[in-house]
Amino acid sequence: MKLLRVLITASFALLLAGQALAQSLIRDTEIEETLREFGDPIIRAAGLNPKSVDIYIVNDPSLNAFVTRGQKVFFHTGILVEFETPNQLKGVMAHEVGHIASGHLARSSETQRSAYGTFLVAAGIGLAAILAGEGQAGAAILGSSQQFAVLDVLRYSRINESSADQAGANYLEISGQSGRGLIEFFEKFRYQEVMSEQGRFPYFRSHPLSSARIDNLREVVDESPYRDEIDSPEDIRRMQIMQAKLRGFIDPPQTTFTKFPSSDQSEAARLARAVAHFRAANLKEGLVSVDSLIEEFPDNPYYHELRGEILYKSGKARLAQPSLRNAIKLKSDAPLLKQALAQSLIDENSTDGIIEAVDLLKDVLQAEPENGYSWYLLSQAYGYQNKKGLAQYAVAEQAYARGDLRRATSFAARAMEQIPRDTPQYRRANDIVVISDAQLAQDSKRR
Ligand SMILES: [Zn+2]
Repeated sequence: MKLLRVLITASFALLLAGQALAQSLIRDTEIEETLREFGDPIIRAAGLNPKSVDIYIVNDPSLNAFVTRGQKVFFHTGILVEFETPNQLKGVMAHEVGHIASGHLARSSETQRSAYGTFLVAAGIGLAAILAGEGQAGAAILGSSQQFAVLDVLRYSRINESSADQAGANYLEISGQSGRGLIEFFEKFRYQEVMSEQGRFPYFRSHPLSSARIDNLREVVDESPYRDEIDSPEDIRRMQIMQAKLRGFIDPPQTTFTKFPSSDQSEAARLARAVAHFRAANLKEGLVSVDSLIEEFPDNPYYHELRGEILYKSGKARLAQPSLRNAIKLKSDAPLLKQALAQSLIDENSTDGIIEAVDLLKDVLQAEPENGYSWYLLSQAYGYQNKKGLAQYAVAEQAYARGDLRRATSFAARAMEQIPRDTPQYRRANDIVVISDAQLAQDSKRR
């Protein structure tokens, strides 16, 4: 039980918890930041508001990226580790944003739903598993079925693909970047074209390559004044760090040690090894590696975070706290860092610690109201404080966030019997009851 608790939560928990769920979302502040840094200029160039376009990371080794309705872009970890340059990643990002901005999803709704075929089903199974597994899987999960209720993965159409290529190339030009990365990426996987559809990577099932398609793209890209623009050293570093971190958490430790031998003293290699040592249950070596990174980059919040994470997941909640506090000091606007500290405080269960955890979690939920895992932690914290009504309210929010409306309305109703009427929590619990009941009634009519 202790081991399970230790494995729960924090950014990469699910990866460590085993292979039970084939597909799940993962959260990591640093990687999310990298994807935003790369993606936001492209999203803006497409005339969209970056705040309204969500980017998700799916823990899945297959090569894939896709968009769903609701302006959501998904990258599999399998594609993220495959990019050779930031420009290649940005190329795929631009293409996917092209689908969103061109309204391909909105248009291909209702009537074509049945034709979405196996890809939607496959994605649906994975995403459903996320929702079902939230209890065990913790923070790795975003846990909002509202996000996935509208899941509607784009179906392949030749016209949509080439228009997304053209739109993507255009956004890259507007944001002063080269489109060559996308062409390189396509060229690299050109061989997929001759394979049977089932043999291809998912991305090239939904995005078949053809000479004509690549030639058309090349024409636009070659005309751009930015065609020879190269990646900045900072972007290259960001991508290497992202890939090293993902590899460290996903690959078997031995694979990581082979790929990043100790002769390689680069920042990325030390990071990958730090993670791999920890995953190989070698806490001491893991700390040595991460400490060398902290010594060289004392202002990097993510090395402090990693140190805290390693300690926490090794069952040392109290020892993890100073590192997590350092991380928060260096990056005060990152909800997941606060969530990690709150988690370790709840584990320790001291009176003062629980008070602090409640404050931290309120901050997290202000920024991420649909963060089901933080609602879960908050319900625990209120439970320790014997605030039964508030604990039930937090459970209601958690259930609501992941779309379990029956549970949401039941806990919200119970909470309302205990919380004073003139509080925001009471009003919110009331809203949950009203909205959930209406939705449930509608659903039963439809059946
Ligand atoms: Zn596409």
